[in-house]
Amino acid sequence: MSAGEAFVTLATSDSYCQGATVVARSLRRHGTTRCIVVMVTPNISDQSRKALENVFDEVITVDVKNSEDQLHLSMLGRPELGVTFTKLHCWNLTQYNKCVFLDADTLILCNVDELFQRDELSAAPDPGWPDCFNSGVFVFRPSKITYTSLLDHALQHGSFDGGDQGLLNSFFSSWSVEDISKRLPFIYNLCASSVYTYLPAFQHFGPQAKIVHFAGVRKPWSPQRDGCHSQSMEQFESLWWKEYHSHTPSAPD
Ligand code: UDP
Ligand code: MN
Repeated sequence: MSAGEAFVTLATSDSYCQGATVVARSLRRHGTTRCIVVMVTPNISDQSRKALENVFDEVITVDVKNSEDQLHLSMLGRPELGVTFTKLHCWNLTQYNKCVFLDADTLILCNVDELFQRDELSAAPDPGWPDCFNSGVFVFRPSKITYTSLLDHALQHGSFDGGDQGLLNSFFSSWSVEDISKRLPFIYNLCASSVYTYLPAFQHFGPQAKIVHFAGVRKPWSPQRDGCHSQSMEQFESLWWKEYHSHTPSAPD
């Protein structure tokens, strides 16, 4: 029925594969009827690839794209994010009509198949600059033309933050003013930073969250457990671990 629609994530390293596994498991737990696809780069280990093949309908190998923009990435404080240009490959998945991209550091808390009623480019505001969308969750239409235009745009203008989010925001620059239906509610991309930027709102609206996004340097799977975190975020983190250690349900054959 919905063979033309897919959830898509990305992992360019073994540690992000851990996150991707949780994306797939949490989507399945909540009974999605859509395909679940992961794009990986050739460097990931066989063990990681096998683990992904168990939970994803499709594991697609893509080549690494790096913005190589160290200046902007250091301003952002995230020198490692040049590799997020690899995300652009999602526009090449033209075997699907419409997709929802989910960062590998997201956790799905309920069925979110209704996102496929939205059109390109739908996304939720970024808590750091709400006239920009956060590129951790977005609805898009695969298209070779769009893919080529995005690469052209990157070559001509670069990315203002050195990562995919800066590029996508300048490419889809009318997002914040054009069409209100393309502005997803924040509960579809509840960013971890909201805990310390607006704690009362987090406490009030947090229970309605549909997708939690562990955006920022520290991921649930990160070895270091420093910094102060609210109880609510810790609850989401323990939910992430529960999903990580759960073994069912897995991909149908
Ligand atoms: N990513 C990846 N390998 C990396 C960095 C990023 O595969 O080394 C992918 C992964 O899907 C990740 C997304 O790119 O979720 C965006 O990076 P991240 O989530 O770390 O950025 P943040 O949301 O913290 O800004
Ligand atoms: Mn992320």
